Amino acid sequence: MGKLDGRVVLVTGAARGQGEQEARLFREEGAEVVVADVLDEQGRALAEEIGALYVHLDVGEEQQWQSAVTAAKDAYGRLDGLVNNAGILRFNTLVDTPLDEFMQVVRVNQVGCFLGIKSAAPELEDGGTIVNTASYTGMTGMAAVGAYAASKHAVLGLTRVAALELAPRGIRVNAVCPGAIDTAMSNPAHLDPAADSEGTARALDGLYRKLVPLGRIGRPEEVARLALFLTCADSSYITGQPFVIDGGWLAGVSVI
Ligand code: NAD
Repeated sequence: MGKLDGRVVLVTGAARGQGEQEARLFREEGAEVVVADVLDEQGRALAEEIGALYVHLDVGEEQQWQSAVTAAKDAYGRLDGLVNNAGILRFNTLVDTPLDEFMQVVRVNQVGCFLGIKSAAPELEDGGTIVNTASYTGMTGMAAVGAYAASKHAVLGLTRVAALELAPRGIRVNAVCPGAIDTAMSNPAHLDPAADSEGTARALDGLYRKLVPLGRIGRPEEVARLALFLTCADSSYITGQPFVIDGGWLAGVSVI
């Protein structure tokens, strides 16, 4: 028996990276999955491969959310889960960040998460789940990613409020807070078919050996397993919480 048998889950930003691994794992665990992204070619190919439904969804567009939720219900008759995974990262110090760039990050990471909750929650079955993707930088600061860190702190606020508001219907809302994970966001070699992304990941392990107690970058499959835990009945008494998955990075500073 799969942990998600009979459930229907929509995952945003699912064409690649962590969202892709979540879509794959959720299918393996018996869920019907809606793969949502703006990368139509990749998203469609993944959906075809794993037997899921693809929908084009720019998470910053409210109308597209309505269409995506309707498409999910038309295809599968119900909606039990949402993973707000889509996100973008921009590097700049705060004083050098143009307002447009700040708003672009907020639009996808924060507004996208808000619209996802707003659009999906009324349609979710009682006892459903929402998993929001925050970040290590939703829990602490990191220089040069101010817009991103602000938006991810906001995701935790949305998570807590949604958990309180949706608890009467048994809908649980939690957040994952990944540290550095080996996807295109942290390892752009994944975007270049000619690049040796495995080699780059090993090089990044070298960098993270100094920063992260477990001594390596995380894998998207590891985040997918946490998202599965928060989407299935194994986490039935957990709501409103951030879950850090960072190899110990946030545990503190080591002087040995
Ligand atoms: P990624 O760049 O591989 O994947 C992000 C996905 O989001 C892509 O498929 C992209 O097309 C999609 N996306 C971007 N804008 C969108 C929009 N407007 N509407 C719909 N989809 C959109 O990176 P990832 O690591 O898989 O990122 C997944 C989530 O994890 C993001 O929210 C990211 O902020 C978060 N995160 C990543 C890391 C990391 O180190 N990789 C660390 C902490 C948190």
